[in-house]
Amino acid sequence: MPDRHLRPSSGWVEVICGSMFSGKTEELLRRLRRAAIARQKVQLFKPAIDNRYGVTTVASHDGAKWEGEVINHAAEIMEKLEPDTIIVAIDEVQFFDDEIVDVCDQLALKGKRVIVAGLDTDFRGEPFGPMPALMAKAESVRKLHAICMVCGGEASRTQRLIDGEAAFYEDPVVLIGAAESYEARCRGCHQVPHRQESTT
Ligand SMILES: [Zn+2]
Repeated sequence: MPDRHLRPSSGWVEVICGSMFSGKTEELLRRLRRAAIARQKVQLFKPAIDNRYGVTTVASHDGAKWEGEVINHAAEIMEKLEPDTIIVAIDEVQFFDDEIVDVCDQLALKGKRVIVAGLDTDFRGEPFGPMPALMAKAESVRKLHAICMVCGGEASRTQRLIDGEAAFYEDPVVLIGAAESYEARCRGCHQVPHRQESTT
């Protein structure tokens, strides 16, 4: 039986989550900057759906930037992984399908430090895609909060507005021709008309 102390050290998974405007990308980039100072090689990925700041740059609202690779499927991370990479970072991770959970597991087993950032809930206030599974399996979860734009409290939800009014529960994710915007809100100020409220 091999000496347990000689086994390669395993990696781990860190999740950074919260509503829009809670500083998730800023926190992700802060961790990457610290790693860069220690000369640890980082690979940063993001899904193709988000091209707000150009296809290869991840930018936070505070202006920080980091070069990243845009991918369509979670499995591409394993294909693009370079042997000397220490840290694998993923921004907007909520847009990947459940395959991302296995990919993060595999990376951690290979000894990588995996840092993912994403929205924990969608505009309806419901768990977003693979986030529940990622949060359950991660070694570390950090929930960030924004400030509620209605009452000034701690915001944990993303309010979707269509032409200035709260979006209905059943509104499609993409609405052609409507002026859409988002606000950070607390539980009490978050409005989802037509949502079935739990009575328990
Ligand atoms: Zn509020």
